[in-house]
Amino acid sequence: MQIAPRLQTITEPQTIKMAKLSRELRANGVNVIDLSLGEPDFRTPEHICQAAIKAIDDGFTKYTPVAGYPELLNAISQKLKRDNNLDYAASEILVSTGAKQSLANIVLSLVSPGDEVIIPVPYWVTYAALVNLAGGTPVLVHCDIKDDFKITAEQLEKYITSRTRLFMFSTPCNPTGSVYSRLELEELAGVFKRYPQVSIISDEIYEYINYLGRHESIAQFTELRDQVIVVNGMSKGFAMTGWRLGYMAGPRVIVQACEKLQGQFTSGACSISQRASITALTSDLGPTHEMAAAFRQRRDYVIGALRKIPGMKVTMPGGAFYAFPDISDLLGKSDGERTIDNDEALSMFLLDKAHVATVAGSAFGSSSCIRISFAASMTQLMDAMERITAVISTLK
Ligand code: PLP
Repeated sequence: MQIAPRLQTITEPQTIKMAKLSRELRANGVNVIDLSLGEPDFRTPEHICQAAIKAIDDGFTKYTPVAGYPELLNAISQKLKRDNNLDYAASEILVSTGAKQSLANIVLSLVSPGDEVIIPVPYWVTYAALVNLAGGTPVLVHCDIKDDFKITAEQLEKYITSRTRLFMFSTPCNPTGSVYSRLELEELAGVFKRYPQVSIISDEIYEYINYLGRHESIAQFTELRDQVIVVNGMSKGFAMTGWRLGYMAGPRVIVQACEKLQGQFTSGACSISQRASITALTSDLGPTHEMAAAFRQRRDYVIGALRKIPGMKVTMPGGAFYAFPDISDLLGKSDGERTIDNDEALSMFLLDKAHVATVAGSAFGSSSCIRISFAASMTQLMDAMERITAVISTLK
């Protein structure tokens, strides 16, 4: 069987590879602490689960409209107003099978061979893969740890060419946890305003996991109304990764294009997940805030512990649930058995010697770092940090 060449442009995500490796070790009786995956360790809040059970009882088991149930589109429209002061009508919103599908819809609808897509590095693994799949060229812009891994307006403008079609970023960011302030977004918006041919995907999936206070969206700058597409979903803030429910909001023209694409690909998202999401988005956000508070406590602990490890430099994540320490000072060191040549070698060393799964930064375009998820219990995190500290102290 001959696989189409387009598949050669993408690889299996490192995050999924690491999770597979740790599952294998676990099956062999090894006590692995998995800090490689990006999903909340909490159960979906009970009232959301009950809404799903009621959806089945009420017969919501048939095909759904491609764009999503009108009640869900309205709930998202109201959520965008309530939480973000954004005005999007139901007709400017499209529900998909996870934010990942929203991103795929948008990239495949906008990007043609030869088009350039600016992606600040470190970036979420899937961004570059989708651009490659669409035949576009990812233009990777390296952001410095001293800028908290955020792209500056100056940097952005330098990389925009007549072929630039799209800019993709996440705030809060996976993998760095960086959060763009209103001022930083305003500065970027000032640049985008001068290049109306550049669309912007603002991936806000970690919106509710924000330790700095108010979430700021680049969509708030109304002069970018025709350029910005907001992507969000239920996975992170509501601990609903397995329900596969995401959405986009943006100009009608892109929403219609994505609806057309989705209509031939997967059709409407799962009926039960959609009903449950209506409840999630229209109910009190108490459980979401409780989860965010727990993540904050874990963040404080993990960052504190990492900062005590010689050779690791780490920023304070303003959101999401990842630490992204720079490990370049550890490169070239050895425990007497093996030398840490690069980020992947360090990640494998931590898995083999400390039985802690992490992800090498090169998966996110940044080979001087590793990603450590703190979406795990405090007990597990304490155990993991002790193990990491102990094995790193053997590197000379
Ligand atoms: N965007 C970012 C930055 C993510 O980290 C993830 C999941 O890890 C997604 C999008 C995809 O989310 P979903 O589960 O809704 O497909």
